[in-house]
Formats: sequence, structure tokens, C-alpha cells
Amino acid sequence: MITLATSSPQDTQALAAAISDHLVVGDLLVLAGDLGAGKTCFAQGLGGGLGVDERMTSPTFTLVNRYQSGRLELNHLDVYRLDDTAETLDLDLPELLEVGVTVIEWGEEIDQVLPVDHLTVRLRYPDVGAADDARIIDLEAGGPEWTDRLGAIVPSVERWTQ
Ligand code: ADP
Ligand code: MG
Repeated sequence: MITLATSSPQDTQALAAAISDHLVVGDLLVLAGDLGAGKTCFAQGLGGGLGVDERMTSPTFTLVNRYQSGRLELNHLDVYRLDDTAETLDLDLPELLEVGVTVIEWGEEIDQVLPVDHLTVRLRYPDVGAADDARIIDLEAGGPEWTDRLGAIVPSVERWTQ
């Protein structure tokens, strides 16, 4: 696991963009963290890094937003409102995972249907006393593939290490 710190929404987006350079088609990122922690903000930074030129909005109601204007297709999901796994299956995840990079807010809620190989990005608030715009961001490898790849990301995210 790598633990990082950001100081503003723009800083979180810059971190996400740095990570986006390492992504390839088929990659899955699970975004974890409370409401308002910065999951959507992080996803927007990923999109910016991939060269998505559309405005990225939260997929809370649409469930899936797909962007094809960047270096790789980006599928942005938010499964907070899904009631059960049956609804999850309607998302047709296998197809999404095949065509591009997929990022799922609240993805841990459906981890039983997700591939074991994924990167979890966990956003949280620092302890009391920290600035309002400070966030702690943990990168956690899921599966053997990401355990190896996380090492390659380390130099790109050095400026956010504490
Ligand atoms: P989530 O998708 O996790 O519910 P959002 O990304 O929609 O969260 O909202 C995060 C909110 O927190 C935004 O209003 C954003 O401006 C603010 N914010 C403040 N500091 C940060 C930071 N360091 N990283 C991300 N968001 C931050
Ligand atoms: Mg969100």
C-alpha cells in the first residue's frame, strides 16, 4: 500500500493524472471513501490525465458515464444507489472492462462481482485539526498484477508522499 496526501481538489486531480499515465485498457480502479471525500474529483483528474475533453459529472444517477475523447476510453461508474447484485449485472461490466479504463465509485460494495486484479484508491479525511481541503489517499493493490504495478507508480507520485 502507498499512502499519499493532497492539499486541495486540484492537487487530488493532479495526483490522479499522474496515475493515469500508467493505465492501460482493461484496468479497473475502485474508489472508496465517504461522501464528499473526493472520489468524483479523483475520477475527473483521471479523465483530465487521459485527455478527456468533456466535462465529467458525477454518475450518481446515470450509474455509468462513458468518455471516448481521451487517450483511452474511460468508463466512470457510481454504484452507491444500486440495491443488489442483479442490478450490478445489468451494468455489463465485462464489456466495460474490455473496452477501456473503468473507475467505480463505491466499488467495494460490489467487490464480489469485480475482478480480483484492481487498484483500490481510498480517500479519507485526516485527523481533526487538519485543513478542510486536506485528504489522505491510500493506493491498495488488489491481486498479484497490481502488487507488481504499484511499484512502477511510486516514482510518479513521490511528491504526494508524506
Ligand atoms: P465524492 O465523490 O467522494 O462524494 P466529490 O469529489 O464529489 O466527493 O466531492 C469532494 C468535495 O471535497 C468537493 O467539493 C471538493 O472540492 C472538496 N475537496 C476539498 N479538498 C479536496 C481534496 N484534497 N481532494 C478532493 N476533493 C476535495
Ligand atoms: Mg462521487
